[in-house]
Amino acid sequence: MIITDTHTHLYSEAFDEDRNSMIDRAIDNGVSRFFIPAIDSTYTEAMLQLEKDYPKNIFLMTGLHPTHVKDNYKEELKHVEDLLTSRKFYAIGETGIDLYWDKTTLGIQKIAFKHQIQLAKKYKLPIVIHCRDAFDEIFEVLEEEKGDGLFGIFHCFTGDFEQAHRAISYNMKLGIGGVVTFKNGKIDQFLNQIDLKHIVLETDSPYLAPVPYRGKRNESVYILEVLEKLSGIYNLPMETIAEITTENSKAVFKI
Ligand SMILES: [Zn+2]
Repeated sequence: MIITDTHTHLYSEAFDEDRNSMIDRAIDNGVSRFFIPAIDSTYTEAMLQLEKDYPKNIFLMTGLHPTHVKDNYKEELKHVEDLLTSRKFYAIGETGIDLYWDKTTLGIQKIAFKHQIQLAKKYKLPIVIHCRDAFDEIFEVLEEEKGDGLFGIFHCFTGDFEQAHRAISYNMKLGIGGVVTFKNGKIDQFLNQIDLKHIVLETDSPYLAPVPYRGKRNESVYILEVLEKLSGIYNLPMETIAEITTENSKAVFKI
């Protein structure tokens, strides 16, 4: 069984004590493909090191996280573009809009989001979208940018059935993680009406640990809880869910 974690911050300080054993634990349990979203330039070196340590398992993205869009965002976007011209990345992300932490930066968040979509189109890469309290704002941008060159993943999808359909209409897969195991997570209510071909798995570790680890540090091996939950929702064996969602991840990231 090959399980793909399409969104995991393995370079996070939360793993400084036991990073390699945590990654090995995941690999031993079949979680062997890790897609690593960027946050800002301060993490670039740690991401490159990860790739050096696990060249067959680690696939890097580059991008500027919406909560890190600050006064220096132009320099940060330049850093993203410099990286893109220097070597291979598998996606632009995470990018998007977050109005939960700071509404005052909406203007520059939108500019940075649009700019990163343009980069993704130029380099024929998927985008990985972070959306928090910002579905309307994100859909507004996607509506302007939609077309053949626009595709990717709506990471940590937490919307309703209608928003799921709208995201899919922009060539987005839905990134499903720990939230699907939450009692009040809501997406488990309608997910069985969404074809599995639109779904990819993720942990977003170290954040958003699934039940029964909710509130604790998340790690990639806990994706098995997400897999088990989806197995119940779709009434399919875990192996089948793993296989289909891994194929979906290959279709998006082209690896
Ligand atoms: Zn993330």
